Amino acid sequence: MESKTVLVIEDNELNMKLTRIILTMGNYRVLEAKDAETGIQLIREQQPDLILMDIQLPGMDGLSATRLIKSEPKLRHIPIIALTSYAMRKDEKTSKEAGCEGHVTKPVSASQLLETVARYVRHNSSHDSGD
Ligand code: MN
Repeated sequence: MESKTVLVIEDNELNMKLTRIILTMGNYRVLEAKDAETGIQLIREQQPDLILMDIQLPGMDGLSATRLIKSEPKLRHIPIIALTSYAMRKDEKTSKEAGCEGHVTKPVSASQLLETVARYVRHNSSHDSGD
């Protein structure tokens, strides 16, 4: 089975590294962006199968980026999982309102992250036409 591609938008290097290691363990191809602007460019160029979106980012924040992605007909089908911090419980609600399909609490655990990603990647596979 071909690897699915996950774009991680996260400005914290340690969180990025941890997330990359876990996704690689799960046989995902990982794209990385440290800010939303770079991430949105990657989404347009590479059409990832799923996006992991940090909320607090330099420049455009993760909620604004999610609203922008969900407003574009060619991009809105891509599931977005918010990376929310345990200390910011309200992020769960606001991320859903912005259009995120799900969320994972940071610091992420391997089992929780892989389970959530697998659920939404599979969910999205009905949009695939050819393969
Ligand atoms: Mn951040």
